[in-house]
Amino acid sequence: MEEIVPGVFRILQKGRIHAFMPPVNIYAMPGRDGLIFDAGYGTRHAVAQLRRGLSQVAAVCRRRGLPCRFARVLPSHAHPDHFAGLAAISRFTGAEIWLTRKMADRIGSRLTYRNAYATDPTRPSGQIRKSSAGRWLTILESGSESLYEKLYGMYFVPRPDRIVSEREALTVNGRQWQVIATPGHSDDHIGLYDSDSGVLLGGDNVLRSVTTWLGPPGSDLAAYVRTLCLMAALPGLKLILGAHGSPVTDPRQRIADILEWRERRTRQVLDAVMEAGPGGIGAGRLVRQLYRGEGLGKWYMAEGWVMLTLDYLVESQRVRTIRNRGRLRFVRGDHAPEDRVLLPLVSPHERQVPSCRIHDPAHRIAGEKG
Ligand SMILES: [Zn+2]
Repeated sequence: MEEIVPGVFRILQKGRIHAFMPPVNIYAMPGRDGLIFDAGYGTRHAVAQLRRGLSQVAAVCRRRGLPCRFARVLPSHAHPDHFAGLAAISRFTGAEIWLTRKMADRIGSRLTYRNAYATDPTRPSGQIRKSSAGRWLTILESGSESLYEKLYGMYFVPRPDRIVSEREALTVNGRQWQVIATPGHSDDHIGLYDSDSGVLLGGDNVLRSVTTWLGPPGSDLAAYVRTLCLMAALPGLKLILGAHGSPVTDPRQRIADILEWRERRTRQVLDAVMEAGPGGIGAGRLVRQLYRGEGLGKWYMAEGWVMLTLDYLVESQRVRTIRNRGRLRFVRGDHAPEDRVLLPLVSPHERQVPSCRIHDPAHRIAGEKG
């Protein structure tokens, strides 16, 4: 437990199996009508860690003679490491469970959860056969539900206590926290921003030292870039408290670096497609080419962002799909740019303030046709 800024405590949960359960941060703001942001894992081991953390927070409140109530718990998005612990937290703190409509529709039951993460056949990523590592993990995720649910200690939430709008201002112990929709890593993602202190509870979109996982069906590359730009433009932003790792103390620089990294990665994928010539390249070969000599775990992580990047490139007509002996292949599209592909307007000296004018697929194509 650590008080990161006055009144905001970080409690760290560590899973037993690191590869599947990276350490996750839960932010507790105790007070008269306190709030817990993100709910972490729901396994007995993880919940015990959280309870220890919260009792340390309570001890601090007692020493200061301040109330230590948690009126509600709100997750940043409906991934298991963020919502699995909701039921347990509500049970032992008495906090109400607050969700956005999108989250509630997703985690209401095993069935809604499973449907929400089914592949989208309208996007290229939904038509690609996964690698063996990817298939193995999909089996773990969807085939043997009880194993997957046990791993994270998942409890579904059929009846949340309140639905929060994605643009609501919440008053927490007298402080205003603005809910902001931050889709990208997942389409139901939100953050909480306190403009007085410049602190953003950012969830998974911007992490200090690791690249955020992106992959179908819940992620979207264009939305991710727009969200990062929106975050960078928040007036007075000083600190991002992410769901994994330590605080981001130079948020605008970190966001600029991530955008630059995504631009480079997008360019790599486009170059590989262009080099493949008229026969095109399959997604699997593309991943192998980019991750030559890396382990299976890396491949699985890679598969997500490569697929998502291909979706983006196809939707913005930089790349086209063809069928080659029944297999999906990617070839150069009509609008393959020579230079920057994702963020044409961010120049090296503009890096402190990333421009939000990305190559938005819908916008750009409509503009070009008109
Ligand atoms: Zn996540």
